[in-house]
Amino acid sequence: MNNQPTHLVIVGGGTAGWMTANLLAHQWGKLGMRISLIESHKIGTVGVGEGSTPYLKEFFERLAIPESEWMPACNATYKCGISFPGWSEKPGYDSYFHPFYSDLDGPQAQAFFRQCNEKRHGGSNHAHPNDYFLASALTRQSRAPISNEIPASDLVYAYHFDAELLGQFLRQHALKLGVQLIEDKVTDIQCNQRGQIAILNTESSGPVRGDFFVDCSGFKGLLVQQTLGEKQQSYRPYLFNDSAVAIQTPLDERDPIQPHTVSKALTHGWVWHIPLSNRYGNGYVYSSKYCSAEQAEQELRELLGPGATDAKALHLKWEPGRISQHWKKNCVAIGLSQGFLEPLEAPMLFVVQRTIEHFIGCYEQGGFSDVKRNEFNQEINKIIDGTRDYLQAHYLMNSRSDSDYWRDCRDNPQQSEALSDIIAAWRATGNFDLALHKHQDKLAYLKTSWYCLLAGKGGFENTFELDSHPPERQWCDNKARSFIFHREHLSRFHADMPWPSPLKDY
Ligand SMILES: Cc1cc2nc3c(=O)[nH]c(=O)nc-3n(C[C@H](O)[C@H](O)[C@H](O)COP(=O)(O)OP(=O)(O)OC[C@H]3O[C@@H](n4cnc5c(N)ncnc54)[C@H](O)[C@@H]3O)c2cc1C
Repeated sequence: MNNQPTHLVIVGGGTAGWMTANLLAHQWGKLGMRISLIESHKIGTVGVGEGSTPYLKEFFERLAIPESEWMPACNATYKCGISFPGWSEKPGYDSYFHPFYSDLDGPQAQAFFRQCNEKRHGGSNHAHPNDYFLASALTRQSRAPISNEIPASDLVYAYHFDAELLGQFLRQHALKLGVQLIEDKVTDIQCNQRGQIAILNTESSGPVRGDFFVDCSGFKGLLVQQTLGEKQQSYRPYLFNDSAVAIQTPLDERDPIQPHTVSKALTHGWVWHIPLSNRYGNGYVYSSKYCSAEQAEQELRELLGPGATDAKALHLKWEPGRISQHWKKNCVAIGLSQGFLEPLEAPMLFVVQRTIEHFIGCYEQGGFSDVKRNEFNQEINKIIDGTRDYLQAHYLMNSRSDSDYWRDCRDNPQQSEALSDIIAAWRATGNFDLALHKHQDKLAYLKTSWYCLLAGKGGFENTFELDSHPPERQWCDNKARSFIFHREHLSRFHADMPWPSPLKDY
């Protein structure tokens, strides 16, 4: 490796900081690089972020940490996809499921794409995504994506977890890999004559010197934004949401544990509902332009019912957007310090992971070269912008009529060229796959995700309910029966989790 730093210092011990510490120590620790992490308990972490994408499975696999070790420590559950109730008023499309696509889905997915394209051209056939993917059938039956017949490596799935416990778990693991922990607050930062970060002064541990720094300090972007002057570009014109209120509720031990996130649309935004092994995480994501914090909390409490009566509410605010130079001088920003879109589709830890992996890759190929740094920044911006487009598509395709918020989201003229092209192509009679192909360099989500979103929201001229289901649904339901019930599988990890469930008939 060229110009390998001898001492790399990470500021921040949230999920981003500890994921970074683990992957860097795993990759470079053996090469003699010293890695330190500074975190301040006085400041704390953002305390949310409990959903993931399938890339997180690769993170644990890379570190060779088995599910049986980390999942019980983090009250984690499996996630096969996300359901979206309430985003559409079109008959038959009141809810749809965005599945994680596995190779096993191949023939059924092909049938789904065909049905969608026929229906786009005016057909009256069945093109609802819920009927064509194994992941949807697993959630209908409350099963884990774990089968005695099919190797786990053949299935694509993600997890839900307690963000605080995940941080603690990753901290312990990083310390085992040799990461040095400094529990202190960074009070000010000194740069050298070349404008690079040189010294972090702390409250009680004195100055910390390093030759490369990772900014995982959260929304404030202590290093890259406050010290190196990198500005955040606002994405508010694309994505209106800038606030959330989160409330935890108990999990009834008689209930099956659903292997999916629910993202339910409400009057001024949407609510996440995430089942962990011991509780639910819930949160209302909304735009402060249309709804006050008090209104949002009240609407969420009404939705959650008695389980939320005495529960504490955590209010959060952000400016949607990103910085452009994630790697600037001798510092790389990872996590909330590099930007945040919003929680829909839970993509941010994927961005964290891709940023770390890409940084490792670029760095190993080119060291401190400007060319590599520029390539890196372009790639990360592409991932974030591609994700922004997919998230915005949810809002553009909504058909709710109950508030200005939803009407304004639908009529929002601010769209990337790629996104407006893709939506226009879906609505026209031409070849939709060609439009996806044309913009493939800009997309963060693949074909299945686009078809599911556009079809699932009822994006057809002809939308009406069909009583019968296509044969593919039967195939999915039969296949799902060879998978283990979610609660049963988790009870193998958690000694105190009841199975069989005392009252429920599975
Ligand atoms: C409402 C909401 C919901 C979300 N849901 C999801 C989701 O479902 N899935 C997903 O992938 N992402 C989600 N995210 C994003 C996710 O929470 C973050 O990407 C993730 O937690 C990483 O945060 P972080 O580590 O960058 O920041 P933080 O958790 O804020 O950590 C910052 C760290 O920096 C430290 N620090 C700050 N200043 C100093 C200082 N001066 N000295 C020393 N230490 C300092 C803090 O103590 C802390 O340890 C959500 C975010 C929000 C706001």
